Amino acid sequence: MKSLENLIIHKPDDWHLHLREGIILKNIVRYTSEYFGRAIVMPNTKDPITSIKKAILYKKEILDAISTDTKFEPLMTIYLTDVTSKDELKKGYEDKVFFAAKLYPANATTNSAYGVKDIKNIYQIFETMESIGMPLLIHGEVTDPQVDIFDREAVFIDRELTPIIKNFPKLKVVLEHITTSFAVDFVQENNIHATITPHHLHINRNAMFFGGLNSDFYCLPVAKREFNRISLIKAATSGNENFFLGTDSAPHMREWKAFCGCAGIFNAPVAIPSYLQVFQEANSLDKFEAFASLNGPKFYNLEPNQEKITLVYDSFKVDDCIEIFDSENVVGKIKTFHAGERLNWRIL
Ligand SMILES: [Zn+2]
Repeated sequence: MKSLENLIIHKPDDWHLHLREGIILKNIVRYTSEYFGRAIVMPNTKDPITSIKKAILYKKEILDAISTDTKFEPLMTIYLTDVTSKDELKKGYEDKVFFAAKLYPANATTNSAYGVKDIKNIYQIFETMESIGMPLLIHGEVTDPQVDIFDREAVFIDRELTPIIKNFPKLKVVLEHITTSFAVDFVQENNIHATITPHHLHINRNAMFFGGLNSDFYCLPVAKREFNRISLIKAATSGNENFFLGTDSAPHMREWKAFCGCAGIFNAPVAIPSYLQVFQEANSLDKFEAFASLNGPKFYNLEPNQEKITLVYDSFKVDDCIEIFDSENVVGKIKTFHAGERLNWRIL
């Protein structure tokens, strides 16, 4: 393949990220803080971030895990529940503790048991958010066991998201980690916004069954049929402002992933090269900066990061795992997305 020119772009942001806590956080945060200027940190810690106090403590834990010369800003979210206090939410947003609120339908994914059982219960919260301009980030899947797992995003859009948008037309809505062409069309038609992960651009649902049942590619929402993946690639690489980067990088220790097959793919160490591969194959490298560094800040009323990064066309082999250290000792491993594969771009 002929050599391509280096790309110089504003430093990207990750608009959807799981950093976990404790030892895992300490070991993995650098893969985001080195390559991204800001990241929206998901609040589904074991004890979810449901208050101002918890968000302040969690932010401190994150910042303490980052070397002091790194300029990285974690943007905190509040985990909505059936009993979220309007006053706490409003105060947290106005005091700039909360950047946004996250809606998990109860039991939709990892640590979401505290999520919202009936979305109508929190319509008064949406009303407050709409009036103060606070963004609502949505895990868009119904949890009704009657609904097939591959249909849960589309059914959520019909049953829940459509009425939310109708009732709160000025609410700033991001449909997170979209996986279907139905979602792509809905986002564009209703002029809401969506994040797209690297893994949903690379794999379809066959990946989970390749060479036996393979939990490495199990995430929620699950990857769907190939035509959906193609639609996501078109959306991400189009430059359309409705779509921006959100890795949904979600680490699990190897033994837990293998044992219980928990949902989540750890892609932070390779996220930018992984996206670039897709943009290169779609002949849309010129649109990457919009997706990674410009569309998100524009939606969130922020300036793009001032710092620039250089992306070099130079292939490398992805390590299988990263090791998790507790002081000197290795206490576990986390498998990386694209483990053992070659990717074409490096960050200088
Ligand atoms: Zn997530």
